Amino acid sequence: MSNDCPFCGIVAGEIPGRIVFESDDVTAFLDANPLAPGHTLVVPNDHHERLTDLSEELAREVFAALHRLTPAVEAAADADGSNVAFNNGPAAGQEVPHLHGHIIPRFDDDGGAPIHVVAGDRPDLSEDDLDAIAEEIRDAR
Ligand code: 5GP
Ligand code: ZN
Repeated sequence: MSNDCPFCGIVAGEIPGRIVFESDDVTAFLDANPLAPGHTLVVPNDHHERLTDLSEELAREVFAALHRLTPAVEAAADADGSNVAFNNGPAAGQEVPHLHGHIIPRFDDDGGAPIHVVAGDRPDLSEDDLDAIAEEIRDAR
C-alpha cells in the first residue's frame, strides 16, 4: 500500500468510494469525476503503477474483472457501448499512479470520440518501418 495513493485508500476502506466489485486481488469503484454515468475504475488491490508492473496472474485477474464488469456497467447505464482502456504511464495521461482500467459507457451520438484520438499526430510510416517495428516487438516479447 502506498500512503498517499487515493486508490490504495479506497481499497483499504480509508477513503470513501462507490465500490461495485471486490475480490482478493481486484477492486472496482465509480470514478469520482465521471466522463459518463457508470464510469468505473478497475484496480489491482496492491499498489502497482503500470500494466508491466503486474504479474501475468494479476493481469489475468484485472482483465477478468473488466470482462465481467463491462456488461454490468453498460446495462446499468443503459449504454450502447463502452471504451475500456488504460492510461499506462504519465506520457499516456495517467494521473493516479495506481494502475486502473477505465470502463467508460458510450452512447449513440454522445459527441465523444474513438480511442484513435488519444495519441498525437499520426506518424508517416513506410512498409519497411512497419516490418521493422513488428520485428522489434516480436523480439522484445
Ligand atoms: P487517469 O488519468 O490516471 O487514468 O485517471 C484517473 C481517474 O481517477 C480520473 O478519471 C479521476 O476522475 C479519478 N479519480 C481521481 N481521484 C479519485 C478518487 O479519489 N476517487 C475516485 N473514485 N476516483 C478518482
Ligand atoms: Zn495505490
